[in-house]
Amino acid sequence: MIYDMLIIGSGPAGMTSAIYGLRANLKVALFEKSAPGGAMINTAKIENYPGYKSIDGVSLSMNMYQQVIDLGVDYYSREIEKIEKGDDKFKVFSDGEIFYSKTVIIATGTKNKKLSVENEEKFSGRGISWCAICDGNFFKNKIVAVVGGGNSALEEGMYLSGLAKKVYIIHRRDEFRASKRIVEEAMEKENIEFVYNTIVTGFFGSDKLEGLILKKLTSGNETILNVDGCFEYIGQEPNSNFVKGLNITNEKGYIMVDNNFETKIKGLFASGDIINKEFRQIATAVNDGAIAALSASRYCK
Ligand SMILES: Cc1cc2nc3c(=O)[nH]c(=O)nc-3n(C[C@H](O)[C@H](O)[C@H](O)COP(=O)(O)OP(=O)(O)OC[C@H]3O[C@@H](n4cnc5c(N)ncnc54)[C@H](O)[C@@H]3O)c2cc1C
Repeated sequence: MIYDMLIIGSGPAGMTSAIYGLRANLKVALFEKSAPGGAMINTAKIENYPGYKSIDGVSLSMNMYQQVIDLGVDYYSREIEKIEKGDDKFKVFSDGEIFYSKTVIIATGTKNKKLSVENEEKFSGRGISWCAICDGNFFKNKIVAVVGGGNSALEEGMYLSGLAKKVYIIHRRDEFRASKRIVEEAMEKENIEFVYNTIVTGFFGSDKLEGLILKKLTSGNETILNVDGCFEYIGQEPNSNFVKGLNITNEKGYIMVDNNFETKIKGLFASGDIINKEFRQIATAVNDGAIAALSASRYCK
């Protein structure tokens, strides 16, 4: 089978491309190594996507997924390991199998950055998490810390404040990057305490996390904070290792595209959080996914 459009990643960018590709009557394959929805699936509350005043990430993911399935996409639960450009089609490699397509759209998004401090590896999944919606329930009536100062840190901190007894939000600066409205809302929560100008330098515990080692940047003093859980929201990095050999990324690993979301390799497109751009949101991913698919359809014809 040769596809017209093979999409890698089923976040909002990839699923939007699939909708446009299928409606243009193309044969479309959608590959996903995890669950459909991408970063949305780990988001407790989305309040800036048009059409929904407020929706949880799992519901929005499943709505999009059902739409592409109903339109007839070939959905594969597999990871793509490599892409090669042939004379008139691409070869896409996954677990010993090769898939062929006239065009490829890379929509692999980003992954969570880690603090890379002492004992982080040891307590990953044993108290340290990157997903409040997945793991928050383990910390009902317990004490947790959230590390970060952007919208995600505060939004997820507020979600956790509805479950945990106490939430510390630890931020390395003295003011937040998050939007003013979200900061104000978080400040109203009685069980959230803000710890400013502070970084986490390590984790401690026996078989599960018992606390954090903190360093106050203004004084250099180190203290201990006893917590049952810690959620890291310190930013994202691109999922682009598998295209390293193609030379289509910038120095940070984000894929470079033109106005049609095409890379410098003809027929190879990229969209959503994986591309080099300033604003990474569901609405911008959907925009990119639509344009990439329309450009890829034109290329096919
Ligand atoms: C905690 C958090 C909260 C957020 N809250 C909001 C919000 O409230 N509103 C908003 O607009 N935006 C929010 N965002 C940002 C938004 O989720 C992203 O901008 C959006 O999901 C990007 O979509 P995408 O399709 O480009 O990538 P993603 O959603 O990251 O999807 C990429 C998909 O590709 C898959 N993949 C990666 N590599 C491979 C491979 N090699 N093979 C197969 N599959 C692969 C991944 O598993 C993933 O499912 C939030 C992000 C985070 C992390």
